[in-house]
Amino acid sequence: GRNAICFFDPLMQADMLRRVHLERGLRRAVHDGGLTLHFQPQVGPDGDILGYEALLRWPHPEQGPIGPGVFIPIAEQSRLIIPLGRWLLQAAARQLAAWARDPATRALTLSVNISSVQFRHDDLVAAVREALETTGAPAERLKLEVTESLLMEEPDQVCATMERLRALGVHFSLDDFGTGFSSLAYLQRLPLDELKIDQSFVQSLEQAPAADAIVGSIIGLARSLSLHVIAEGVETETQRTRLAAHGCHRYQGYLFGAPAPLA
Ligand code: C2E
Ligand code: CA
Ligand code: CA
Repeated sequence: GRNAICFFDPLMQADMLRRVHLERGLRRAVHDGGLTLHFQPQVGPDGDILGYEALLRWPHPEQGPIGPGVFIPIAEQSRLIIPLGRWLLQAAARQLAAWARDPATRALTLSVNISSVQFRHDDLVAAVREALETTGAPAERLKLEVTESLLMEEPDQVCATMERLRALGVHFSLDDFGTGFSSLAYLQRLPLDELKIDQSFVQSLEQAPAADAIVGSIIGLARSLSLHVIAEGVETETQRTRLAAHGCHRYQGYLFGAPAPLA
């Protein structure tokens, strides 16, 4: 097809078998509580912890830990992302409720990643409401991270769902900002609270003047729209200094802490 010839390669079959195998294992993990969450700190200007991002981990019994970059796409293609996403919201809300009981942790926020497949194919409003109600978690401490790919299809419907979630009290962060199909028009339509500068820009800050200019512009844009801005993938002091010079005062990255189990 498409003026191209493709030869069968035994690797293709091996790859497919691997996927089938992984999907089966993932299904079991989702239903038997075999997935765990790691938490990565999000810090303010003085390095004070403002909250955490929850990142999924799959400690596979035979293959060792499998990263979300591998299993989230499988979960999305097999619709396992729906029960997985519901489990994630419950776990996140439970954690927020626990933090709320202790004055030392009461103000912490928790960010969770929402897949665009989950957003479109689950009743996300019902799932979030249920998680909040069954745990008593404070809605305003929950941040949902969405990506620009969400807006590719049915932006009106997405916008309406986000408005309904906003009405519950939760906040939104636009993840991987600048890498996708950003249309600036969405920035004024969507009920966003935060832009998250993609780590590819942060990591090019030192070498590429263009990255520095882009980061500066994103921060200026966020400011003028009264949005918070957080930089992810901050690994060096130099990056932090550049970001601060541009007016970015929230950071996440190995410089402050890698994702780790809560304990
Ligand atoms: P993301 O949301 O952009 O998450 C940031 C990724 O950058 C994480 O990878 C994190 O471990 C990594 N990271 C954090 N700080 C640094 C740093 O300083 N340097 C570098 N090089 N990397 C850093 P991770 O945990 O492997 O997650 C990969 C992606 O998988 C996430 O990208 C997110 O899109 C997805 N994901 C993770 N957890 C979930 C989840 O619970 N639900 C959904 N739908 N997707 C998830
Ligand atoms: Ca994220
Ligand atoms: Ca990101």
